[in-house]
Amino acid sequence: MTNWKEYLDRALAYHGHLCSGQILGLRVVLKGLDLLGLEPTDNLRDLMLFIETNRCLADAAYVVTGITLGRRRVLTFNFGKAAITFLDLRDGRAFRVAVKSAIHPSRDIQDLVAFWSQYPDEAILTCQKVLIPLKPEDYPGRPLKRIVCPKCGEEVLDGREILVKGQALCRACAGEAYYRLV
Ligand SMILES: [Zn+2]
Ligand SMILES: [Zn+2]
Repeated sequence: MTNWKEYLDRALAYHGHLCSGQILGLRVVLKGLDLLGLEPTDNLRDLMLFIETNRCLADAAYVVTGITLGRRRVLTFNFGKAAITFLDLRDGRAFRVAVKSAIHPSRDIQDLVAFWSQYPDEAILTCQKVLIPLKPEDYPGRPLKRIVCPKCGEEVLDGREILVKGQALCRACAGEAYYRLV
């Protein structure tokens, strides 16, 4: 298993600062790859990530795997949790790796690398074998489906429309918009 310290420079360059979230993120990602029998230097084209936060941890996933959001192999869930699930699309094996909540460095700790080095993975991470019921339209690749929303005229890919009274609408027109028009 690759040592997380090898990625510190890249994490710092990409994320902008070195924080516990970065360090834990590197360890979560390397652990997830290891559970799938993968190394960061392997061809990771069949790896899919399910990231449960949009904080520091998410950047570590990119730093190690190079997988970008636009490749359809990263799904983010704003659960506010320090956890990532790693799915191998070749055989459906998936492992969820989460950070245990028990340990936090105190604010006056200067050397976060030394602090987190004291703890083996077992002390800070939990690992679960999981099953991800992925819908056909969630797989990477060409869009299986595209519709035009009859209300706003915008195109909706990948089956993200919702049926409202027999009409296929985009989520915004179906009442799920995260914004309001002004
Ligand atoms: Zn950070
Ligand atoms: Zn619409």
